[in-house]
Amino acid sequence: MPNGSFRPGDGVPVTGIYTATHYQHRMPHEVFAVEGDQFPTCRKCDGRTRFVLSQAATHIDTDRDFAKAAENAKAKRAKAGTKKIP
Ligand SMILES: [Zn+2]
Repeated sequence: MPNGSFRPGDGVPVTGIYTATHYQHRMPHEVFAVEGDQFPTCRKCDGRTRFVLSQAATHIDTDRDFAKAAENAKAKRAKAGTKKIP
């Protein structure tokens, strides 16, 4: 991945907003992609789209302060379980 540009089929390295640049049929625009997914193929310019990271952003579901309430409760319980009683 020289110069930080990705092709359809490449793995998304970092969750965030990417600028998608198409071949001839459309102006560049921004898309949101999640780490671990694959950049998709454009139905019009096929594999000629390029994606460049514009702004990395944490997915709200995986943010440590916004993660699902159930997981927070689990984490709290685990912490309480390890607390020593004075
Ligand atoms: Zn396209």
